[in-house]
Amino acid sequence: MNDFVFSPPPVISVPVTGEAVRFPVRRIFCVGRNYAAHAREMGADPTREPPFFFTKPADALVTGGADTPYPTETENLHHEMELVVAIRTGGANISPAAALSHVYGYAAGLDLTRRDLQDIAKAARRPWDMSKGFDASAPIGDIAPASAIGHPSSGKITLAIHQETRQSGDLADQIWPVPEIIAALSRLIHLAPGDLIFTGTPEGVGPLHRGDVLVGEIAGVGVVRTRII
Ligand code: MN
Repeated sequence: MNDFVFSPPPVISVPVTGEAVRFPVRRIFCVGRNYAAHAREMGADPTREPPFFFTKPADALVTGGADTPYPTETENLHHEMELVVAIRTGGANISPAAALSHVYGYAAGLDLTRRDLQDIAKAARRPWDMSKGFDASAPIGDIAPASAIGHPSSGKITLAIHQETRQSGDLADQIWPVPEIIAALSRLIHLAPGDLIFTGTPEGVGPLHRGDVLVGEIAGVGVVRTRII
């Protein structure tokens, strides 16, 4: 206790489906433009360029179906429904063939985005931190262990608002599948136990409003729920 100026913050963690223990989170990495149809709707060329990454702070997570406050300084908050990979063992220069052995499990997550600030950042060649990494920008469902569900490489990924489907895609349509994402990220940084990777969103991103009830589902993985308040 006397080692620190003030009490360190609690460990950020995510519930694990079917387990009493929680998954402790270290960092959050996110892949941009990983589905061709979404890249096109954002005005980008969906050629198979190397994946690119941005980050969110671990304490941006919203867990357990809690409410998500509409953030400040935006009038265009967007939903991006995504498969999240939870890393159990770290490493650098991981090969695609070995990548899945580093995965603890998977979850459904939302990469919430201040789209108006992101558009400004893109135009001005500024960083995305404040358009992507704000407080409560990462609602996430419980993590399903790979020991229970395997390693999904295909399956429906959907997001509904007030029970109306807004995003619908298939994990098989990812430009960079999970093993290649892990391999590419581990060439840039040393992956560590507790790291989460948001793997990109299918088409159909759009604005959110206070009162919206979001249910995102990935077949065979799980559900993320939140209400914008
Ligand atoms: Mn995203």
